[in-house]
Parts: sequence; structure tokens; C-alpha cells
Amino acid sequence: MKAIFQKYGLVKIHKNRNSRDGIFHWTSAGFNRWLTNPVLCGHTAYLQRITTSKGKRKRNKPEDWQIIYDTHPEHRLITDAEAAEIQQILLFNSKTGHFSFNQHPNNPVCYREYAYQTGLVFCAECGSKCITKSAKHQQGMYYYFACRYAGMGCGNKKSTRKSTIENALINILVQRSQTLANQLDEQPTREQEKSEKLKQLESRLEALEKILGFDPDLEKLKQKIRLQIAEEINPFLCDSILNKSTEEIIRAGNHLAIWHTLSPDEKVKIYHQIVHQITIRNAEVEEVILKI
Ligand SMILES: [Zn+2]
Repeated sequence: MKAIFQKYGLVKIHKNRNSRDGIFHWTSAGFNRWLTNPVLCGHTAYLQRITTSKGKRKRNKPEDWQIIYDTHPEHRLITDAEAAEIQQILLFNSKTGHFSFNQHPNNPVCYREYAYQTGLVFCAECGSKCITKSAKHQQGMYYYFACRYAGMGCGNKKSTRKSTIENALINILVQRSQTLANQLDEQPTREQEKSEKLKQLESRLEALEKILGFDPDLEKLKQKIRLQIAEEINPFLCDSILNKSTEEIIRAGNHLAIWHTLSPDEKVKIYHQIVHQITIRNAEVEEVILKI
């Protein structure tokens, strides 16, 4: 969260938390609560909220929740082992404030932007593990994956840009999560009510994504709109999450903007837990194989 706030120059504002006034309310506590919700592991948690002796509702301590295991095992998004790992990471981060041994103390991000792709990308033609490449262009550096045997027996000669791989991966994740959410709710779902602002932002982003070619300014603009969308649909807004059902929480975590706004460190941990392999062929992603 700190990385996101610093990177995008967002200021955390504590007043008017309950109003829809367009200020970025996404708290790291809210995101952590979402990540650690037993619902994602196929369990159901009761007593998440309790009534105090004074009649007020408040959050119960997670260790006091009554968890009914495997209420929807076929729809789990995260295994128990992965959930334990996520807990470990959060605990580690809470103790160290994201500090790790290989980073500069003034620079809280220890992984590079696409570091999580290392070890996951394979050649669709010959099956070998791809190698990373970079090229300097007028607008800055471009980063790619390429087959190590390109031109030496393998016909997959054109490298694939890391940003292309990321976009394909995120699209697949959102599709998969939406399928899971739809399976959970077998009755026809009514179209989620979208605010006018959200519809506008989504169509702006769609228009920008149709522009071919790579331009860092354009990428910055797209990222800005994604953050605005995340803010609109913000599932981690403290009070709104309390009234949401299981399905709604999972569905809320399914928007493109949420994946796009993870920090490089979060991506390394989370994507390595859920992605098995990505194959590429001639500048395109051919297949994304998830672990679920
Ligand atoms: Zn190859």
C-alpha cells in the first residue's frame, strides 16, 4: 500500500470515510482483510462481527471466528497452504515494514516491476524456459521474454513484451474469478449496478486500450484511470465490506483494476501462488495455466 501511495502520489485522507467523495479510501487493513478472508479458501466464517455488552456491533478477533470448513470447496480461490503463506507474508511485512535484505533502505520496493514473471514464462513452440531481454527505445526501456533457442532450431523468433504478458495474465485471472463467482450464484445475476462515473471510466480505459503501440505517457494515463476505477469499486472500504455476502466479496476482488494496482512485491508473492505457467509465441501470450 505504501508503495502504491508513493508511486501514484496519493494522499490518504481520514475524514469522510463513509461518503463517496472520490477520495482514495483503499486501506491496507481492508486489503489484508480481503486477502485473509476464509471465504477465499472455500470456508465460511461466522461470528466475524459480534455485539458488545453495550449493544454495539464490532469486528470480532479472527481467532474467535467460528469457521465452518469446506462449505464450498470446489470454488476455492486459494488453498490452505497458500492462505498460510499469505498470513506469513502479512505478518513478516507487519514486523519489517516491507524491509528486506536486498533493498536500499530509502527504496521500499525490492522487486522490479515484472519480477514475478521470472520462472513462469515458457516457449509455446519448444517448451523451454524463456530468457529475459531488454531494448532501449526513444520512450524508454522495453522488457521482453524470448525463447532461448530462437533462431537456433526454434521457430518462435519474436520476443513477447512483459507488459503484454501482464495484461493477458490479468485478463485470465478476472475471467476465472468471474466464472467462479458465477458458479457460486446459479440464479441469474442481476447486472451489478454501476455508477455513471464507473461506466465513464471504463469506457475511457477501453478506448485507450485500443490505441496500438507503446507510449509510457499513455501507460501512465491508463494506470491513473485504473486507480480511479479501483477507487470507485473499492471493495475494501471499511464499512461497505461489512454488509457484503460471500459472493460479493469475491466478485469485488475480480476487477482488472485491483490486479493492476498491486505492488511488484505483492505480485511476486501472489502470482507465484496462483500461476503455474505462461506460454508465449511470436509476441503474443498463447496460454496461461493457473494452479486452480
Ligand atoms: Zn522455443
